[in-house]
Amino acid sequence: MNAMTNRIEGALCAWRKALGDDAVQFENDALRVYSLDTSDFSTSPVAILLPATLGEVQQVVRIAVQFLIPLYPVSTGRNWGYGTANAPKDGCAIVDLSLMSHIREFDVELGLATLEPGVTQGVLQSWLEERGLSFMVPTTGAGPRCSLLGNALERGYGLTPIADHFAAVVAIEAVLPDGTVYRSPMMDAGVSNGFKWGVGPYVDGLFSQGNIGIVTGMTVALARRPEHVEAFYFWIDSDADLEVAVNSVRGILQQEGSNVGGINLMSASRFLAMSERFPEGQADKGQILAAEVIERLARRAGAAPWMGVGAIYGSRRHVAASRKAIRSALSRVAGRVLFMSSTKARRIAALTRWIPGNRSRRLARTLETMRQGLALLEGRPNELALPLAYWKSGMPPDRDLDPARDRCGLLWYAPIVPIRAADARRFVDLVRAICAAHAFEAPITLTSVSERSFDCTLPLLFDATCAESARRADKCWRALFAEGRRAGFLPYRLHPRYAAMVTNSETPFWRTAQKIKDALDPLDLISPGRWTLPFEEQAVAITTIQKEPHHV
Ligand SMILES: Cc1cc2nc3c(=O)[nH]c(=O)nc-3n(C[C@H](O)[C@H](O)[C@H](O)COP(=O)(O)OP(=O)(O)OC[C@H]3O[C@@H](n4cnc5c(N)ncnc54)[C@H](O)[C@@H]3O)c2cc1C
Repeated sequence: MNAMTNRIEGALCAWRKALGDDAVQFENDALRVYSLDTSDFSTSPVAILLPATLGEVQQVVRIAVQFLIPLYPVSTGRNWGYGTANAPKDGCAIVDLSLMSHIREFDVELGLATLEPGVTQGVLQSWLEERGLSFMVPTTGAGPRCSLLGNALERGYGLTPIADHFAAVVAIEAVLPDGTVYRSPMMDAGVSNGFKWGVGPYVDGLFSQGNIGIVTGMTVALARRPEHVEAFYFWIDSDADLEVAVNSVRGILQQEGSNVGGINLMSASRFLAMSERFPEGQADKGQILAAEVIERLARRAGAAPWMGVGAIYGSRRHVAASRKAIRSALSRVAGRVLFMSSTKARRIAALTRWIPGNRSRRLARTLETMRQGLALLEGRPNELALPLAYWKSGMPPDRDLDPARDRCGLLWYAPIVPIRAADARRFVDLVRAICAAHAFEAPITLTSVSERSFDCTLPLLFDATCAESARRADKCWRALFAEGRRAGFLPYRLHPRYAAMVTNSETPFWRTAQKIKDALDPLDLISPGRWTLPFEEQAVAITTIQKEPHHV
């Protein structure tokens, strides 16, 4: 046995003693499940660890230090399109925190929930329903089986009024690489007041898209379900009107403030990928649907070259006033604007039963999709958005969709685009050209994450079982990133396989991040490679910092 095998054997033995045999898995079948991705990226872990308490996480870390085995923590490991439970490198033990699924505290007056990593959107929804508590789950398109804490750490977002999920985090508890416990200043003082910042430097942020600890608890602010929620949909009948639509969206966000959640501008191909099957016989043979075909199919499905979706939250009077303002702001550009609440959708659905034939079936299907979309906007999770991942890789199952398990090919390209007409046009033209050159459609959605910025989510969709398609997707993502960066569009989040494309020892930002990492995790044991400089550059960064004692 060599030294490495000895260390692994020693660690496995110590972890089994600390957690129990069932909580330490190292059989090939178990390891293989954790190596699945929605791309051809895959690494080999040495073990899967399933701690159930804060104390067990501390033991996991201390044993990792003793035997020098790196750890990769995941909450539910369903970061589909941005990674999964796959560590960035071979040889890590995956710390699967899904058994830590308690809602530790809930402050009904302030709307503060203290959650463990395994609390999913679905778990929180059932918990709130059982207690008759009228709060919204911070839903995302990823569905009920995804962790709230994992999503917040990734700085994920949704469409409910608290759209920026890390912004809603007011306190963090984490195990540091030396096995000690970190708590945010207010939490550490035993105070729960909903104030995010505390006094002194703001350290919590280092845990989001970070690799300096294992987060075991988080207090998040939840939005109360208001008296009324009303979705609005609008149809932009010509691609040439994108610029006017962008200006109108910015106007609505600036005018209506927090009454309106995030607004989505969805291209025709995105609408199709979310709502229709890929045309029979054409699935992923390296060819793409021509723009005219996409437009024709979208029109047949009742969509337009660009579709807008958003929601108004508030009292009935507030909603009525915003409805009027939104209708007026969109009058110049939208061919049609439709406002819909779940009550109205239910009433119309009841009426469609009296319409005979195919038309009624089509209408019933559209209304069901709208009803599920409304549920997401009202903070009730569901799997409505997940079939998107299956567009090029077969039929989704009826429930419990899992794009990695089902070998769907998906890589998200998610850059920030300013809500300016000229920037949006420049961006859309650029990504359409790059996607076409690599034989991919460009199913773009621009989602407002503030009144200043859109995040674009562009899914590269393919069949992950086809090696050639997976290679092509990787090449296309790299081209999008490189050309996008040159044009000033940078992602807000990315798959671990691309981390080395952003970390760079030349920049003060990454030199500083590396220095913090080195100070807290000198053995590089937590998520190595997730956000660190490539190994050869770490030495450069340290030397540069040493040579620059007065560097600011
Ligand atoms: C069709 C579709 C739609 C989607 N829609 C959305 C959307 O609307 N919004 C959105 O944000 N995302 C969306 N996603 C992306 C993704 O699936 C979700 O963000 C999902 O919630 C992330 O996975 P997770 O919660 O299991 O986190 P995990 O995979 O568990 O973790 C995510 C990252 O955080 C780190 N991490 C997790 N837990 C810890 C911890 N306890 N301590 C330290 N580090 C930790 C992990 O190492 C990993 O890098 C979508 C995906 C698909 C396929």
